[in-house]
Amino acid sequence: MTTLNTDERVDGILVQLPLPAGVEPEAVIAAIDPAKDVDGFHPVNVGRLWSGDPGLVPCTPQGILLLLRASEVPLEGAEAVVLGRSGIVGRPVAALLVAADCTVTIVHSKSRDLSVICRRADILVAAIGRPQMVKADWLKPGAAVIDVGINRVATADGARLVGDVDFAAARQVAGAITPVPGGVGPMTIACLLRNTLLAACRRRGLPDPASL
Ligand code: NDP
Repeated sequence: MTTLNTDERVDGILVQLPLPAGVEPEAVIAAIDPAKDVDGFHPVNVGRLWSGDPGLVPCTPQGILLLLRASEVPLEGAEAVVLGRSGIVGRPVAALLVAADCTVTIVHSKSRDLSVICRRADILVAAIGRPQMVKADWLKPGAAVIDVGINRVATADGARLVGDVDFAAARQVAGAITPVPGGVGPMTIACLLRNTLLAACRRRGLPDPASL
């Protein structure tokens, strides 16, 4: 990692998880130069996110906020419910929604009355990895639904990918909804490139590109 951290030609470093047994992901991520941490998982970048300081923001949450803004979903004062509390999706997307003036509830595997909490949501972000667990009657009519889940389920002719939301039924109730595949996934990749460009500019003392 020291070689990559000190190599002037390298602007971005990401660790492809999971790592082999016996290698602690936290230790490897903590060894990355925070200025090159294009996944935004280094503790320094996590702290900056929650403090509202400029850093590198995790890609999937960043993509979700870009989707919401581009779709002109009202954020100020909105009730946002985040299903899942992982460090990769749930927690950082909650931080971004708080920073965008939403009222945020995070739910997880120990939470009670999930469907009741979800029905309050103007914005629902589902990131639990449970195929089609979120049903149409969990949604407030008109809600913006962001389905982060990627789940492979068996079918008669092989397998297909589904999200954490029962898309076919939920789209009848939601005001806006992302599909799986093709919704959040491509935004994650775009934001990884965005972070890499930001890291390159900042390391050279250049301003952040205006179009970002
Ligand atoms: P994790 O397994 O790390 O976290 C899952 C979270 O969901 C945990 O907080 C867990 O709670 C919660 N959870 C699990 N089951 C339930 C349940 N029955 N009720 C309520 N909460 C529950 O997953 P990730 O956050 O890494 O990923 C979530 C999903 O998003 C996966 O399907 C993953 O493949 C997908 N993903 C998609 C990306 C994209 O680019 N589209 C990027 C990253 C992830 P607890 O903390 O209590 O265990």
